[in-house]
Amino acid sequence: MKLYRLMSRIFPASFAAKVLLLACLGIQIPLLAFVDLGLDRELHETLASIVVMVMATAIGTLLTLMALRNILSPLLVIARHLESWDAGRHPGHLPDDFADEVGRVMHHTNRLLDRVTDHVDQSRLEADTDPMTGLLNRRGAERRLMRSPAGWLVHFDIDQFKRINDAFGHDMGDQIICRVAGVAGTLLRASDVLARFGGEEFILVLPEVDQAEALRIANRLRESIESAVATPLGPVTISAGLARHAGGSRLGSALLASDAALYEAKRSGRNRVHVSPDSSWALVGEMRPEPEQPGRG
Ligand code: GH3
Ligand code: MG
Ligand code: MG
Repeated sequence: MKLYRLMSRIFPASFAAKVLLLACLGIQIPLLAFVDLGLDRELHETLASIVVMVMATAIGTLLTLMALRNILSPLLVIARHLESWDAGRHPGHLPDDFADEVGRVMHHTNRLLDRVTDHVDQSRLEADTDPMTGLLNRRGAERRLMRSPAGWLVHFDIDQFKRINDAFGHDMGDQIICRVAGVAGTLLRASDVLARFGGEEFILVLPEVDQAEALRIANRLRESIESAVATPLGPVTISAGLARHAGGSRLGSALLASDAALYEAKRSGRNRVHVSPDSSWALVGEMRPEPEQPGRG
C-alpha cells in the first residue's frame, strides 16, 4: 500500500483521482517522449522514432500497470481481511486513517465487524447465563468445563423447595433461589464455576482440589446457606452430592455420579453431603433426619 499512502497525501479524499492520475501518466509518458523526439530530432529518422515510441509506450504501460496494481492493493487487503473473518479468525482492524472512498470502506468495515463481534459476544453470554440468578446456566457451565482441569463437582439442590413455593408462592420461591445463588457466589474462588442447572438445582465445580478440601467447601456451603437463608418455615437447607471430575470433556460421567450422590443425600435425610468415590457412597456431613418421605425431583 506504499503508493496508495503516498498518493493519499496528494488526493486525500478521492480514490478516483488517484487512479485517474496514474492512468493519465501512463498515457502522457509515451506522448511526451514522442513530442520530445519530434522537437529535438529530425522526424525523418522514422525508424529511431518508432523504436523510441515503442519503448516509451512499453515503459509507460509497465509503470502504469505496476502503479495501478499498487494503488488497488487496499482492496486486496480488505478482501483478505473479510476472508479471514469468514474463516473464523479475528485479524484485528483495517488501517483506519484514510479519508477517500477506500478509507471509508475500511472505516465502516471495522465498525461493522466490531458491532458483529459485540453482538456475538452478547448473544453467547445471554445463551450461557441464567437470567434469574445471573449465574451460568447448564449450557454455559458445560462450555466452561470443557476446558476445566480435573477437580471435584458439588451438585446441590434446595431441600423441600416445593413447600416454600406452596406456602409463599412462586415469587418468594424465586427469591430464595436467588439468595442461595448469592450465598454460594460469596464462597467462590476465582477458578471455581458455579451454575444453576435448572429449578433449584446447582453445580459448583472446584478445579484442582482434593477430596478433603472439596468436602470442606461443600459443608461450608451447606452451613452458610442454612445460616443465611430462611423463610418463616425455618432455615433453608441444601443437600449435595460430590463426585470427582476428571477434567475436560468427561463432565457427563462426573454429573451422573454427583447426581447419584445427591440422590443418596436426599434419600438419607437431606441437609448433608454425600461423596461418590466411584460407586461406594461415603456419608459425611451433619445428620439431620427429617420426618418427610425421601425422594427428590
Ligand atoms: P427435595 O428436598 O427432594 O429436593 O424436595 P423439593 O421439594 O425441593 O423437590 P423438587 O426438587 O422435586 O422440587 C423442585 C420444585 O421447584 C418443583 C418446581 O415446581 C419448583 N421450581 C422449579 N423451578 C423453579 C423456579 O424457577 N422458581 C420457583 N419458584 N420454583 C421452581
Ligand atoms: Mg429440591
Ligand atoms: Mg430439584
